[in-house]
Amino acid sequence: MRPILIDFDGVIADLHSEWIRLYNEKWNDDLRPEEVVHWDISGFVKREAQKGVFEILGWPGLYDNVQPLPDAIESLRALTSLRVPWVIATTCSYHNMIRGKSEWLYRHGLTSSEEYPADRMIIVRDKGLLRGLAMVDDYHENLDSFKGPGILFDKPYNQESNHIRFAGWKDALPYLLGFVQKEVFRGG
Ligand SMILES: [Mg+2]
Repeated sequence: MRPILIDFDGVIADLHSEWIRLYNEKWNDDLRPEEVVHWDISGFVKREAQKGVFEILGWPGLYDNVQPLPDAIESLRALTSLRVPWVIATTCSYHNMIRGKSEWLYRHGLTSSEEYPADRMIIVRDKGLLRGLAMVDDYHENLDSFKGPGILFDKPYNQESNHIRFAGWKDALPYLLGFVQKEVFRGG
């Protein structure tokens, strides 16, 4: 069976909350995640932080305090126990992200070793290169380029997209399992 392709930031891990917390701490601001209603966060931060806010993404240890999104870990474990193949497909703009995300997956019991890149992780910028049963992402352009069903996780910063959207894993998992069922009956 083709794997389900699952994004990392904004789909299983709440990067935005930690990113914004670190920004607030460094630049003494009180920005809230729900106020960031566009992909380009630089429009919502203090002028002097417009460049530096992106550098936070390269900080070692960034993922140490990033929390899982609700039901994400349980859903991936459910897919594993149902023997539904899944991989994390993620862009790592900074080298430290490869290690941070890999260790995060291991810490949450989703991969079998601490080595990085993690065994269930594909590092890719152009997700249109990937083939899979379905793709779950919070960035509509990744879903636009994917040749298969795309599922958008609803966020304040992606309101302009028309992909089918879900608030979170509780609703998305049964929908995904529908594709699995069809694939099974097709003999995939
Ligand atoms: Mg994402």
